[in-house]
Amino acid sequence: YERKKIVVLGAGYAGLSTVVNLQKELGFQDADITLINKNEYHYEATWLHETAAGSINWEDGVYPISKVVDNMKTKFIVAEVTKINKDEKTVETTQGEFTFDYLVVALGFESETFGITGMEEYAQVMTNPTNALQARESLEANFKNYLTSGDEKDLSIVVGGAGFTGIEYLGELVETLPELCAQLGIDYNKVQITCVEAMPSMLPMFPKELVDYAQKFLEDRGVKFMLGTAITSANEKGFTVKVGEKEEQLYANNRIWTAGVRGSRLMEESFDGVKRGRIIVKPDLSIEGYDNIFVIGDVAAVMNGEGPDARPYPTTAQIAMQLGQHLGKNIKRKLNGEKLTAFVYDDKGTVCSLGSKDGIGIVYGKPVKGKFAAFMKKVIDTRSVYMLGGAILAYSKGKMF
Ligand code: NAD
Repeated sequence: YERKKIVVLGAGYAGLSTVVNLQKELGFQDADITLINKNEYHYEATWLHETAAGSINWEDGVYPISKVVDNMKTKFIVAEVTKINKDEKTVETTQGEFTFDYLVVALGFESETFGITGMEEYAQVMTNPTNALQARESLEANFKNYLTSGDEKDLSIVVGGAGFTGIEYLGELVETLPELCAQLGIDYNKVQITCVEAMPSMLPMFPKELVDYAQKFLEDRGVKFMLGTAITSANEKGFTVKVGEKEEQLYANNRIWTAGVRGSRLMEESFDGVKRGRIIVKPDLSIEGYDNIFVIGDVAAVMNGEGPDARPYPTTAQIAMQLGQHLGKNIKRKLNGEKLTAFVYDDKGTVCSLGSKDGIGIVYGKPVKGKFAAFMKKVIDTRSVYMLGGAILAYSKGKMF
């Protein structure tokens, strides 16, 4: 009798949640669990805009994966996955090859610039703690540089995309920048923050009243919105945008792209039928033709129903953790020769923060805004640490205490 090998790729919300739940469900003699992740730490992907705006430090949003891994049950390998061989049942990594009986692919998201000219070269993104910190450091450097250069572009920030990430980042900026300006002796009124959004309105999943509240909140603090305006390129001077039929140059030395994400590029290289790094999964979270390979988190398109009208759920930390939870149970069923069950998403709501003291959202189906939304956001942020890391980590890393 040989123990089955379960290999989990990625220690984000989805992968780590799978491991935590497998550790709960399985005894140490039941299976060999191997977790492979690029870094020795897990990061709170939903806090990256805070690192990028300087509201929190790099280390506040990360914790060592070893704190969550039970060494009796799980082997944790720090390595980058370079190839998945679905038919050979092997995974190639920078630390060698691993064979699996069951594979959990939870490789997470990357930035997507849609091939826009100059975007990768001239704009910054916040898709991991390293580039989020770089965005913060270059902003600070430009503000400092203004003191000697007098160049208005140094104090000008353009943000591409008014999705959740863009809006939450702007909410942090209008809180942290007045402080930074005060420290450097710069008049905050000289700072120009422009957010460019291709769609005629932002955050279409929220009722108009909430969207208007968020827009006014940010406008009152100096943000200028250009809605219905698409970014067409990035260059060393700023972004070019399309206003009607005309191209216009926006000038800024701080260029931020928060207008697109996709699943890991390894997905296209490893599987068929992958779109923007996401593959459609079956209700039991396995993929077509491979009942031993499960895909969850930002690399999975989890459908909200069946038939031609079915749409994938938005990729969020909330759904990623629920997917990991469900998969932990389904893999146990698999090992026991039982039938797998279908994943059912329990949408508890969404909050879009506007800095640390304000926000908008839908919580348990009800619209919320202001201080209460900000409070709920702290509850959500702390809960996600608790769900993966337990009480001690929630106490040290959470935002409630
Ligand atoms: P997004 O794709 O949701 O939003 C990107 C925005 O950029 C869109 O409004 C789009 O119209 C705009 N855009 C795209 N191309 C453009 C162009 N060329 N010019 C101007 N605007 C352009 O991306 P996101 O905000 O990073 O969110 C990614 C995922 O993460 C989503 O599923 C979201 O729900 C989730 N998320 C959730 C939260 C939360 O719950 N608080 C926070 C952050 C992200």
